[in-house]
Amino acid sequence: MSVPVPRLGAGDRLVLASHNKGKLAEFQELFEPYGLEILSAGELGLPEPEETGTTFVENARIKAHAAAEASGLLALSDDSGLCVEALGGKPGVYTANWAGPKRDFSLGMRRVEDALQAANATSPADRHGYFMATFCLADPEGNDWLFEGRVDGMIVWPPRGSQGHGFDPVFMPDGYDITFGQMPPEMKHSWAPGEPGLSHRARAFAKFVDAVLEDLD
Ligand code: IMP
Repeated sequence: MSVPVPRLGAGDRLVLASHNKGKLAEFQELFEPYGLEILSAGELGLPEPEETGTTFVENARIKAHAAAEASGLLALSDDSGLCVEALGGKPGVYTANWAGPKRDFSLGMRRVEDALQAANATSPADRHGYFMATFCLADPEGNDWLFEGRVDGMIVWPPRGSQGHGFDPVFMPDGYDITFGQMPPEMKHSWAPGEPGLSHRARAFAKFVDAVLEDLD
């Protein structure tokens, strides 16, 4: 029998199973209206598990279960990445690795551009890509629930803007003429209760809200 999804409201505790500062900052903004007590894996001193999966779902599960078991609390992870069609879906689950061990995102963006040039993907139609976010909510007993969000767009060069994090300056979402790197945070999320949101993370979050969070008064 499947275990019903937990419901959380103001004052309830939730561990964010991430050590990525950019993601944590976005999560703090998304959770702000709900009044949960949000704890990060880093501040609890939880170890960062190795992401040995080959899919977003596998890696999201690894991170959420590790944090839930170690903390004894509900934990939420996000495994995300940039998938570029002309590159056969790369960098995909290996997006962070393309930024090298020092997580140098200028280098990561340059590698994506070099790969696009090598694939002769120079026209806008050849440069389609999408960001994917897979959230996993896990409890300490080993149950989990998944929520996914995706945003389609185009890879541009050179990078534009200094807002956001990671690969934001080279990603222009469909329907916009600026990159995520040029958008203020509220525009990148463009999320409000009951709305689907713009970014992959905001879209996964909207599904998580519907299933897990108690309605705001
Ligand atoms: P993860 O922490 O293993 O899920 O790695 C995700 C990778 O994708 C990191 O390198 C992030 O910088 C990148 N990424 C995920 N979401 C975003 C985003 O919203 N903007 C820019 N880069 C992102």
